[in-house]
Amino acid sequence: MPVTRAQIIRRGLLCACPNCGSRGLLASWFRLKPACGGCGMDLAKSDGFYTGTTSIGYVASILVVLIPACVLVAKKVLSVPVGIALGIGGSFLFVVGLYPAMLCWMVMAYHVALPGDLPANRDPS
Ligand SMILES: [Zn+2]
Repeated sequence: MPVTRAQIIRRGLLCACPNCGSRGLLASWFRLKPACGGCGMDLAKSDGFYTGTTSIGYVASILVVLIPACVLVAKKVLSVPVGIALGIGGSFLFVVGLYPAMLCWMVMAYHVALPGDLPANRDPS
């Protein structure tokens, strides 16, 4: 295949198109462009990108924000109201802050799983 899984991962981590490597896949903080500006690859074709991004965000915020906040409350480093505020506010900021990266990583994960689905890797016959 012309585009390898390693290239797809490298491009995905940098939020670049998995097909051609051009940057700028985001239309806004919360949305992908409908297609890549470099090669025209359809970015909107896969339903579930947004729900997948939200699911990754929930799990990541549990691991990175909520569990540490609970541990700090259990060890009496934080009071319960401060722990609750940190959990709610921290989770919100964490998910919103990482949302663009998670969108790009969903595109990457899809094409790492199905590299033959990239236009550059399709069989011309
Ligand atoms: Zn492209």
